[in-house]
Amino acid sequence: MPPITTSIFELFKIGPGPSSSHTIAPMKAGFDFMERIRALPKEQRMAADTLEIRLFGSLSATGDGHGTRRAVMAGLLGYQPDTCHPNVLEEVEKSCQDFELDIDGKVLTYCPANILFDAVQHDYPHSNTMVFALKAGETILLDTTYYSVGGGFLRWEGWQEPEYGAPAYPYKNMAQLKEHLRTHSIRLHELMLANETAITGMSEAEIYAGLDHIVEVMDRAVEQGIQTTGVLPGPIGLHRKAAIMYSQAKEEHFQGPGFVKAINAYAMAASEENASGHCVVTAPTCGAAGVIPAIIFMLKRQMGALSDEIRQGLLAASAIGFLCKHNASISGAEVGCQGEVGVASAMAAALLAYARGYKFQVTENAAEIAMEHHLGLTCDPVGGFVQIPCIERNAMGAIKAYNAYLIASTLDESYQKVNLDKAIEAMAQTGRDMSRKYKETSMAGLAQSMTEC
Ligand code: SF4
Repeated sequence: MPPITTSIFELFKIGPGPSSSHTIAPMKAGFDFMERIRALPKEQRMAADTLEIRLFGSLSATGDGHGTRRAVMAGLLGYQPDTCHPNVLEEVEKSCQDFELDIDGKVLTYCPANILFDAVQHDYPHSNTMVFALKAGETILLDTTYYSVGGGFLRWEGWQEPEYGAPAYPYKNMAQLKEHLRTHSIRLHELMLANETAITGMSEAEIYAGLDHIVEVMDRAVEQGIQTTGVLPGPIGLHRKAAIMYSQAKEEHFQGPGFVKAINAYAMAASEENASGHCVVTAPTCGAAGVIPAIIFMLKRQMGALSDEIRQGLLAASAIGFLCKHNASISGAEVGCQGEVGVASAMAAALLAYARGYKFQVTENAAEIAMEHHLGLTCDPVGGFVQIPCIERNAMGAIKAYNAYLIASTLDESYQKVNLDKAIEAMAQTGRDMSRKYKETSMAGLAQSMTEC
């Protein structure tokens, strides 16, 4: 396996919820297919009369709950996840009429309901597959098979890894990363900065500006969520809870139970914003978009952390996210929720330990402890909506991150018997052994117990 060359800004992406696999990547697919259509010869564009889009795997199994159809539609209409306005999916959903797709002179009418939910079990190489075809009668003018591979990453048939610069400190696992830290006497955030610059060509100032923007969007989601009451969209009728938890935490001056309530409130706030289809940051996915923002908000509000400490913590967290993504998965459809909230919790624990100034080994131990206690966690969203168990699960992931940080920073680091590489290996193996039903299909677990949704 080649060394990790993922950019921090591929891991932390801004876009509409409720599920990066189901909204961000499909939106990109819709946008990309329209670009491909526009590149066709004019006579082919003029002959086109049908746009056929089929969704497979959990993109199909979760139905309208994860918002895939409206995300594809928004992409077809020219919206992109990182630049669209925060409520774009709500607008697409509210409009029952057909949309007009202008392909440079030819107008096709299309409606999200035309997008077909196809087979849940299939032979495509990735679970979350989308097949787009532009037709003239029965003749296929253009077809592309896209794969949503987790965390909003989009691949397609024939996709090739883009040419990135070689990382300054190449690594594939934590053992190699640690070896660099030791032999070059470099700190983790410095190594991550050097790699990001080498891979993307961004300057340090640009990377810090990008990290600050990510924190800004995370903070906005938490702020918005702790001020909003009411019921979330969808048939479950789930009440928002973050604002209630927050006001109780405030009454208790964020002390004792009030402190724990605050972390819960922050995590649920960003998750409720995600469930509303508003913009969040994939951390590492939309489904898990509450955990890291909760820890950052708490660090700033309750622990008085400085911007630099948050930036350095985020760089440490990105190392953990990369290792999980490259050696296991960050997709609920591939390994269950251990790959989403589990990874988010490990990243958040590392962020917290690193931002608080603990040495590297405490950071790794905190991440390992958080990961270890999410192993085997299934993905079974009720009714296909990223609400139950997802919102409270983010709160639990944030609390576990805090507890992992406490355990790692209190005990002698040599007491730790399991390293992060081993925990990630266990996560990958558990994911492989996990029944397909528990991987974002809404066909088992809570999703089956609560079929009335
Ligand atoms: S259960 Fe976990 S993995 Fe599944 S949709 Fe919810 S947050 Fe994502």
